[in-house]
Amino acid sequence: MGSAMSDSRTGQGSVETPSSAPAAAACSGPPLRRPAAEPYRIKSVEPIKMITREQRRKAIQEAGYNTFLLRSEDVYIDLLTDSGTSAMSDNQWAGLMLGDEAYAGSRNFFNLERAVREVYGFKYMVPTHQGRGAENLLSMIMIEPGDYIPGNMYFTTTRAHQERNGGTFVDVIIDEAHDPTADHPFKGNVDLAKLEALINRVGAEKIPYVSLAVTVNMAGGQPVSMENLRAVRELTRKHNIPVMFDATRCAENAFFIKEREPGYQNRSVRDILREMMSYGDGCTMSGKKDCLVNIGGFLAMNDEWLFQRAKELVVLFEGMPSYGGLAGRDMEAMARGIYEVLDEDYLAWRIGQVRYLGEQLLRAGVPIIVPVGGHAVFLDARRFFPHIPQDEFPAQALAAALYLDSGVRAMERGIVSAGRNKQTGDHNRPKLEMVRITIPRRVYTDRHMDVVAASVINLYRQRDKISGLRMVYEPPTLRFFTARFEPLREWGI
Ligand SMILES: *Cc1c(COP(=O)(O)O)cnc(C)c1O
Repeated sequence: MGSAMSDSRTGQGSVETPSSAPAAAACSGPPLRRPAAEPYRIKSVEPIKMITREQRRKAIQEAGYNTFLLRSEDVYIDLLTDSGTSAMSDNQWAGLMLGDEAYAGSRNFFNLERAVREVYGFKYMVPTHQGRGAENLLSMIMIEPGDYIPGNMYFTTTRAHQERNGGTFVDVIIDEAHDPTADHPFKGNVDLAKLEALINRVGAEKIPYVSLAVTVNMAGGQPVSMENLRAVRELTRKHNIPVMFDATRCAENAFFIKEREPGYQNRSVRDILREMMSYGDGCTMSGKKDCLVNIGGFLAMNDEWLFQRAKELVVLFEGMPSYGGLAGRDMEAMARGIYEVLDEDYLAWRIGQVRYLGEQLLRAGVPIIVPVGGHAVFLDARRFFPHIPQDEFPAQALAAALYLDSGVRAMERGIVSAGRNKQTGDHNRPKLEMVRITIPRRVYTDRHMDVVAASVINLYRQRDKISGLRMVYEPPTLRFFTARFEPLREWGI
């Protein structure tokens, strides 16, 4: 792998000296570290508009201080999500031209099927339009009303599909995952005692499968260790409970194992990923993340019965089992992305870029969730704005202020996202009150990250000039998408 690249970024690697350079002798001193630049060059550019602070002030007012309501054209650096926002490679774009748009039996389907078999090791695969399409199929087939589905922290669409089919999600992640300051290398791990307690309480026959996310999005892109995957497999095998992965960011998880888990330093990421998947019976996949495409997903499995049922249902909800709601060209791009994401120079740079941003913030004393995860840096808005009570929406205010300051778009993940309690009508008040700064894959350079870091640090230094917000419009459901706000006092930035 490109070890010089990843190591110099994390500051652990050997240092290269330009031994033959004549100037080196004249200017003695410690050898220079070689910076880790992007492992790609740019062949096609997408211009972004630069707008003034006054234009941004107008835009965020019109958007009701909600970054979801901004027009993408008014955003300078868009870090709202890493979902479907990746830049495809020249190889993937070339693949689009080889789309076989047959209604049945497209050659691109067979390429995708081969990629899933080779890389993940599952026998069968049904394409879907995106990850939630696969979650829909899996939940409908496997879950009976009254069932319990343990998982390492919930994800919005995953849990919604489980509940829609009469299941109850049970969080069995380790406690550290809920603590923004707990520095644990595998914060996505399952707490085996919690899982075992659930099995003993409700009985294995009430648990259709364990839902295992690698990495864990809602915990901040935190990985699961191989040791933990193996242990979950052992425990569930005793009780005959299948394990289904949410493989959305599985390549990033495999990279963390290589970096952090003893015994994996000399194994390839591809090999590590294959071992990870061997501890499960199948997976749902959102291709919009670690398959490096703008749309697509799939459900994979080893079980013949599950495959048959999935083929019957996919026709109703997505399309024929050989396209599942995707064009032939989409399947080709996804098949190619499945291999490309395993490039270890890419992964070292990818994870390194997220860390590069996080470490700049940590050095400046900005409160963020540690350790920095695989796809995003989370600002801890409670500690960032200690003067703003949670009921005045500190994370919402911070996301809006970040846009106002520099045109960077991030997302609230706190009290607004948590919605209201259905019984009492009061706000749900989550422990974590965060702003998620999510990095799309291969889209921005480290120079963009410098802009983001400077803006966040700038805001942190002026935090007293920013007040909380008042909610002036609240929709009945999923309020974070469309709620509108106003500052309680005029902001001094
Ligand atoms: C994005 C995501 C999904 C859902 O995938 P879509 O492609 O958006 O439907 C499921 N699980 C996790 C962890 C995700 O991040």
